[in-house]
Amino acid sequence: MSFANETLTDFTDPANVAAYRAALDGVAGQLGADYPLTIGSHQTETGAWIESHNPGRTDQLVGRSAKGGPADIDRALAAAWEAFATWSAEPMDTRVALVRRLADVMRARRFELAAWMTFEAGKNFAEADADVAEAIDFCEYYADQAPLLAGEQETYPRPDESNTSILVPLGAGAVISPWNFPLAIFTGMAVGPAVVGNTLVLKPSPDTPIVAQEFMTCAREAGFPPGVFNLVTGADADIGDHLVDHRRTRFINFTGSLNTGIRINERAAAVQPGQLWIKKVGLEMGGKDALIVDETADLAYAARAAVASGFGFGGQKCSAMSRLIAVDSIHDELLEQFAALTSELEIGPADENPDLSALINERAQAKSLSYIDIGKDTATLVTGGTPGPDGGHYVTPTVFADVGAESQLAQEEIFGPVVSVIRARDFDDALEIANNTMFGLTGGLISNARDRLDRAKREFEVGNLYLNRKITGAFVGLQPFGGLRLSGTTVKAGGPYYLRQYLAEKTISERRLT
Ligand code: NAD
Repeated sequence: MSFANETLTDFTDPANVAAYRAALDGVAGQLGADYPLTIGSHQTETGAWIESHNPGRTDQLVGRSAKGGPADIDRALAAAWEAFATWSAEPMDTRVALVRRLADVMRARRFELAAWMTFEAGKNFAEADADVAEAIDFCEYYADQAPLLAGEQETYPRPDESNTSILVPLGAGAVISPWNFPLAIFTGMAVGPAVVGNTLVLKPSPDTPIVAQEFMTCAREAGFPPGVFNLVTGADADIGDHLVDHRRTRFINFTGSLNTGIRINERAAAVQPGQLWIKKVGLEMGGKDALIVDETADLAYAARAAVASGFGFGGQKCSAMSRLIAVDSIHDELLEQFAALTSELEIGPADENPDLSALINERAQAKSLSYIDIGKDTATLVTGGTPGPDGGHYVTPTVFADVGAESQLAQEEIFGPVVSVIRARDFDDALEIANNTMFGLTGGLISNARDRLDRAKREFEVGNLYLNRKITGAFVGLQPFGGLRLSGTTVKAGGPYYLRQYLAEKTISERRLT
């Protein structure tokens, strides 16, 4: 066991900035290419494409990825099951070694992979770099954890019988991933099940197909056998339901929004003709994450933590703070500091390394702007509230005050740079407001009162609770990530129980012959 998180790059060092810019130049020369599906050992074109554009410079084509259809899903599942026969029979050490090699390949291409995310997802340098670092962390951490699940697990002895349990992989599963961590989450969701012997059909978000293609390039370079990872890009309407409904899909590893997750869960429950199992479904979904600040807190620190939590990557993190809950006596002072820092944030194309860039697509921009309209009618606009620069899907970082705890703004996931500041009478009230949501992903408290920090540990109903710090940026292995309530099925990525979910226990009892 040797796991340690990758060090994040220090972009206050000009040499690192120069190296990153060189990587951007290198990737800029590769933009606009066409990419096939990968099904078993075949690279397949389909005659149709999904186009991926830079969200901050929408006239820039990042690349075109083959548009798969239902027949491609059928073929990908067939290839995954064929590969499963040999992949599942490999010794654990062999699979672990390949996953570590994948980490090495990503390490060697760190800035190049990050640069792809700057172009395709609108990540600034630090956000993109952290995404690659996390992908590497998932590989190394799961490579460390997997051997703990190999071999025979002894049960209690019996004089005339040997009893053992072994953990066996489930089969061919689906990875359905979001665009907001197009490498890290995609890699973790693929590599976790694979290292313990499963094979996968990978269906990335149609917003970030090219980063998924880069993952496949890395996996091929690392030497993964054909059929372990099969990539089918395409439109949700063409392939989403088909993959979920398919009788040969053994499990579904999903990260995305609540509505999609619920739909997948419902559809996956149906047993199709010829299906031999109940599908196992793991769901990581949305949040309406709150940071509470009380009257004992260092307000300057709290304001900085709130800005980082609310506006990092434009609020497009499931962990992003969308509610800042301030107790009455410090509310006005905190709001002033928070709004002042927010209004200083720079916004622009991600390759210029601003604080935040464009939202992922037109729909996301329209969604944020529609909530801003709601906020203008129901709350007080303090800063932002406009579309931002031309040329991309921009929304300026926006703060609303006087937001009612039950209002739409305070209850629904916006997934953009829109933060609601909510006034609480006191700490008790603040905690009640924080818990007053259907979600339970991340949350935080900034306070110097020990008893309140302890109460938050017991009573704040979230999967990831952060005390006296920002509420985003979980580290693999240190802070297993995933939510309570409707935020998910407690899959907990990057934690010690993750891999066990892709294994079934098989018990073998043998009577001793005398
Ligand atoms: P989304 O639900 O729109 O899409 C997620 C994935 O589901 C994509 O691959 C998409 O193509 C696919 N999909 C859409 N419709 C489908 C269907 N009918 N059948 C099968 N697949 C379908 O979410 P998104 O916009 O990509 O991501 C943002 C959401 O993800 C936010 O709600 C965010 O909170 C959540 N998220 C959660 C976590 C977590 O760990 N809990 C992490 C990242 C993002």
